[in-house]
Amino acid sequence: MNALAAMLRPLPSETAHVAVPQTRGYIINLLRGLSPVSLENEIQRAAQAGFNLLLFPIYNNGWTLFPSEAARSYGMKRISPLFSKWNPLATACRIAAASGLSVWAYGRPFNFHPRFSIADHKLLHSHPDWRLRTHPDYQSGYHRRYELWHPCPLNPDYRRYIGDVLTEVAHAYPITGAVLYYSSYGLHGGPLGDFPYCFCESCKAQYREAYPEADLAVDAGSNIERVRAWQLQMSHETLDYLRHRILRARRALRFICRARPHWRAEPPTQRVIDRNVRLMDWPELMDSGAVDELLIDPDDEPLSADLGTRVAADYAYLGDRVLFSPIVTVEDPASLRIPIRVLYRYPIPGFIAQFQHLLSSDEAQAIRESYFSEPAMIAEANPVRTAIWLLDQVRLRHQDGSPLGTLMADMLRILTRQLPLPDNFSMLQVIEQNLLGLEQFIRRGRLEPLQVDDDVMRYLGLARRFVRMAGLDVRA
Ligand SMILES: [Zn+2]
Repeated sequence: MNALAAMLRPLPSETAHVAVPQTRGYIINLLRGLSPVSLENEIQRAAQAGFNLLLFPIYNNGWTLFPSEAARSYGMKRISPLFSKWNPLATACRIAAASGLSVWAYGRPFNFHPRFSIADHKLLHSHPDWRLRTHPDYQSGYHRRYELWHPCPLNPDYRRYIGDVLTEVAHAYPITGAVLYYSSYGLHGGPLGDFPYCFCESCKAQYREAYPEADLAVDAGSNIERVRAWQLQMSHETLDYLRHRILRARRALRFICRARPHWRAEPPTQRVIDRNVRLMDWPELMDSGAVDELLIDPDDEPLSADLGTRVAADYAYLGDRVLFSPIVTVEDPASLRIPIRVLYRYPIPGFIAQFQHLLSSDEAQAIRESYFSEPAMIAEANPVRTAIWLLDQVRLRHQDGSPLGTLMADMLRILTRQLPLPDNFSMLQVIEQNLLGLEQFIRRGRLEPLQVDDDVMRYLGLARRFVRMAGLDVRA
C-alpha cells in the first residue's frame, strides 16, 4: 500500500452518499406497437415501479426510430414507415427525462429476423450488396432467407451507415449510453458447412487485401481456420469502429453490447451450438476496454431460480475484471425477487427487465413497494461515485479502528478527488491494484481474526471494476 499511502492527503469534507448505485433497466418492446400515448403510459409505469433506466430502440430491422438524415442519404425513408407522423426517440427521451429515467439507445444492426419485425425491412432490398452471402457450394432456400435477414457486419459501407446513425443519435438526443445487439450476429465460426458465411464481394476484396495470394472462397475449403481467424479479427474491428464513431460524437457515453451466453449450455429447445463458434471474443474485448459492459441475453429461458447458477457461469467465463448484467424476461412481476436476490450475491451492477406484458398501475406500485423502495442511481453513470458508495459500505461495516475501515477511509479520500469527473489514470490504476491485492489478502485469511463477510467481498470486487471503468474513461 506504499504507493497509495504516498498519495494520501487529508480532505476537509466527506462525500454525501445519497442513492444506492443499482441499475434497474427497462426495455421498451416494439412488438407491442407504439403510439405517443402508449409510450408515455409505459414509461410512466416503469418510473412508477422504480426503474431508473430505459433501453429504447433506435434502429430495428434496418429502420430508424427517429428522422434520420443518414437513412435518407442512403436512399431510405428518414424514419420507419410506422412512425411517419411522430418521433418516438424524441418522445421517449422527453418523457423519460420528465419521469427521472435515463435512456440508453438500443440498436439491432446485425439481424433483421422477422421474429423481431414490426415493418418489413427494405434496407437489404435497396442495398443487396450489404447482404451476407453464402459460400457458392452451399446455396439453398434456407441460406437465401438467412442472407435477407443479415447484413454483412464486415462490409465497410454498411458499417459506415451504422456509424452515421449512431453519431446522429449521440449528437441530437440526451442518451447516456448505446447498446448494440450482438445476440444474433450473422457470422459464426466453426466448420464451413455449418455456417457458410460470408462470401460477399466486400469480404472477398478485403480478404484479398489481407492475403494478396489468397481467394476467400477457396481458402474456406482448404484453410477454414485462417478464414475464421480473419473474420474474428474483422468483427472486432467493426465493433471498434462503431465504438470510436459514437465516442467521437460524445465522449461520455457508455458503450455496451448485448450478447448470447454461448459459454453456457444451450437451452434444450435450441440447436446445440459449439462453444467455440462465436466470432466475438467477449473476454478479450472487455479486458481491452473496447466494451464497457455486456448485457447477457436471457436466451429464451424463462426467469427462474436458476438465474443465480447462470450468473455464476457468466462470471466464470467473463472473468473477474469486467462488468456484466443479466437481461431477464418477466412474465410475472413477483418473479423480480429472483434477480433482486442475485444482485445481493454477485458483483453485478444491476439487471435489465423485458416485460412480457404492460404493467398495470397496481403492478408498478407493488414492484416499487416490494423491490425498489429505495431510490437508486444508475451504477454506470458515474463510476467514481459508484465506487465511493461501495467502499463506504465497507468502511461503515469496519469502523472501530479496524485496519480495513482505516484503509477504506484513505481510499475514499483519494477517490473523492476524482469527482465530478476522473482525470488521473495512474492513480485510479493504483487503487484498482490495491483493491485486488486486498481481496486476495482477505481470501487467503491474512486479515484474521478480523471477520469479513460476503457482502464486503462483493462491494470490494464491484468497486474495483468501477474504479477500472473510471480509469478507462480517463484514457479514452
Ligand atoms: Zn461479407
